[in-house]
Amino acid sequence: MQALKKNLLGLTQDELEAFFLDLGYKKFRAKQLLQWMHQKYVVDFDLMSDLSMTLRNDLKSIASISLPEIISETLSNDGTVKWLFNSGVGQAIETVFIPEADRGTLCISSQVGCALDCSFCATGFQGFNRNLTSSEIIAQVCFANSLLPKRKNGLSAITNVVFMGMGEPLANYKNVLKALRILLSDNAYGLSRRRVTLSTSGIVPNLNSLGDDCNVSLAVSLHAPEDELRDNLVPINKMHPIAELLEACWAYAKKHSNRYITFEYVMLRDINDSVLQARKLAKLLKNKPAKVNLIPFNPFSESDYQCSSSEQIRRFQSKLRESGIIVTTRKTRGDDIDAACGQLAGKVNNKVLTRLSEKKRRAVVL
Ligand code: SAH
Ligand code: SF4
Repeated sequence: MQALKKNLLGLTQDELEAFFLDLGYKKFRAKQLLQWMHQKYVVDFDLMSDLSMTLRNDLKSIASISLPEIISETLSNDGTVKWLFNSGVGQAIETVFIPEADRGTLCISSQVGCALDCSFCATGFQGFNRNLTSSEIIAQVCFANSLLPKRKNGLSAITNVVFMGMGEPLANYKNVLKALRILLSDNAYGLSRRRVTLSTSGIVPNLNSLGDDCNVSLAVSLHAPEDELRDNLVPINKMHPIAELLEACWAYAKKHSNRYITFEYVMLRDINDSVLQARKLAKLLKNKPAKVNLIPFNPFSESDYQCSSSEQIRRFQSKLRESGIIVTTRKTRGDDIDAACGQLAGKVNNKVLTRLSEKKRRAVVL
C-alpha cells in the first residue's frame, strides 16, 4: 500500500524548512514553495520552474499539495460569494467572501461544526464532527484567492481574513495557529496583524496562549453583560465566566500596545437588547481598549429567537455611545444565500456531539 503523502499546503515556513533540510535540500526552498502555493496559487510541482527536476520528482514521490474539492459556489445579490467545500465522508464546510468598496473580507471556517452549542447559532445547532487541519483552513484562502479577480490596483481581492465561519478557532488551537502564521508570512499571504481577526466565544487558556504566540486582531463574542444570561446564550461561559474572560482580554490588549478588542453582541429581541443591558455592558467596557460591534441576529429555521427591531438596535447603540463606548452595527451581508453570520451550517454528519453535556463539552474543548 502506498504511504500517505504529506500535504505541504498547511505547513509554516519553519516546518517547510525542516522538511527540506530533512530531504537534504537547502532551506531557502521553503520560501520558493510558499510563494508558489500561496502567492501564485500553483499546486502542480511540475510547473514550479525554479525547482530542479530532481527536487520536483522527490516532492512528487513523497508530498502533495491538496486542495479540497468544491461542492458549490453561490453568489448573493449584494456580491457576497459562498463556497461549500467537501471535507470528506459527506461533510462540508463553508467559506464566505464579502466585497466592500475599500476591502474584501474572507470569512473562514476552523472546524466541521462546533461543540460549543451557542443557542442562537446554526453551526452550534449542527453539532460537532472534527477539527479542520491547517491545510484545510489555509486552502480556503488559497482557493478563494485563486478564483477571485484582482482588485483595480492589481492587488489580491482578499485584504482581510476573519475566523468567523464555522467552528470555534481557539478549540482547534494548534492548526489555527499554523494557519495564522501562514497568513502573516511575507512569503505567503503577507497580511498585517490588523487585517487578520480571530473571533472567539472565550476559551480563556487558549486566548492567553494566543496573546504570546501570535497577536492578531481579536473579536470576542460577548452577547450578554451578565453571567446568568451568558450561561444560556454561550454555554462556555459556565467554564469561563465574564470576569475571567474580560481579564484575559485586557491582558491580551496590554501585550500589544493596548490594541482595541472588538466585542460582538448579537441583537436578540427581548433577550439581551434592553437599555438597562446596554448600560451594564457599557460599565464592563468603559475606559478599556474595547469597541462593540452589534450584530443583528440572523435567523435560521431551527431557532425561535427574533432579531431586535432597528429602533431597539439604535436605542441600544445610542446608550453605549452616551457612555463613551465606540460602537458600530454590522451590516448583514449575504443573507439571501444563508451566508450571514451564524447561518453557516455546512454539512455535519457523523456528529461526535450534538447537544452537549457539560462533561462532554469540557472533554472536547480542552
Ligand atoms: N466561534 C467563534 C467564531 C464563529 S461565529 C465565535 O463564536 O466567536 C462568528 C460570529 O457570529 C460570532 O460573534 C457569533 O456569536 C455570531 N453569530 C452566531 N450565530 C449568529 C446568528 N444567528 N446571527 C448573528 N450572529 C451570529
Ligand atoms: Fe460555535 Fe461560535 Fe457558533 Fe458558538 S457562535 S456555536 S462558538 S461557531
